Amino acid sequence: MHEEHRKVTLASWPTPLEPAPRLARALGLGPDDLWIKRDGLIGLGGGGNKVRKLEWTCGQALAEGARTLVTSGAPQSNHARLTAAAGARLGMDVVLVLAGEPTGTAAGNLALDGLLGARVVWAGAVDGAELAAVLDRVVAGLREQDAAPALIPFGGSSPVGALGYVDGGRELLAQAPDLATAVVALGSGGTMAGLVRALGEDRVLGVHCGAVADPGHTLDLLLTELYAPSPAPRRPRLRVDQVGAGYSRLTEPVTEAVLLAARTEGLVLDPVYTGRAMAGLVAAVREGEIRPGDRTVFVHTGGLPGLFGHHEALRRAGEVLAARVM
Ligand SMILES: *Cc1c(COP(=O)(O)O)cnc(C)c1O
Repeated sequence: MHEEHRKVTLASWPTPLEPAPRLARALGLGPDDLWIKRDGLIGLGGGGNKVRKLEWTCGQALAEGARTLVTSGAPQSNHARLTAAAGARLGMDVVLVLAGEPTGTAAGNLALDGLLGARVVWAGAVDGAELAAVLDRVVAGLREQDAAPALIPFGGSSPVGALGYVDGGRELLAQAPDLATAVVALGSGGTMAGLVRALGEDRVLGVHCGAVADPGHTLDLLLTELYAPSPAPRRPRLRVDQVGAGYSRLTEPVTEAVLLAARTEGLVLDPVYTGRAMAGLVAAVREGEIRPGDRTVFVHTGGLPGLFGHHEALRRAGEVLAARVM
């Protein structure tokens, strides 16, 4: 479905692929086995995987004559922050419909949303269906005001958005032709779906982060569209063991993975996505699903601003620091 859609450029490509020999050794892999695809370094709005998807969804919005981008998410949504940045870059208005109540101080992604010029609609403490209903009302209101709104889907993960990671997967393959496994966080699913389309289902290991109720189903819907008219692959590799008490909650394996990556490579992970993906990689090595001698790439999808808006992680960081005061 590539050719019938238009894409805008929002950053410089390719992102770096860097070795992680000290982390590899700490995990029991060979020093040349583990590499990091640095999509956290994408140079727009604080970086992260959502930019690749926005190149396609914004391209589609512009082709349809839109002047306002509208999307939704959690208050600490990286996708909302990067939609705000894309709108600024493209000269479009941005409205973010966020699940929560207005806050006095803005931390993490929320601080950047305002700085990047987005307007925020607080939807209150709502579930996914209620948030979608508020979103529909906001879009209808903007249409009445002649603001030409375009709805950017949850997490940017429409089939068109996922094309950004078909691009990303091809880019990675040119950098690592002998790739055995790319490990990536699964939130709304577009990133993993695009990577599977580019690399094949055997070479992508997704780690479910708890953002959707049924990750297998979410992935299946996206893959069906990305492969049409061919049949979608049957058995994408998916780990569902890292969610813990829920999407935004910090877990012990995530804390350990975050500390390990930071102390072996100076690589900063976030507590919601990349920390879970790394905890999944650690578990996959322990269980022999990822083996020494195979080229493994950890796809760093960004999310750093979220660390500074995550109260539980910041409290834990305070404890870690207190234990090291000299
Ligand atoms: C959204 C997000 C993901 C997950 O990507 P999806 O395409 O939604 O599955 C992973 N990491 C970070 C930092 C994200 O913000």
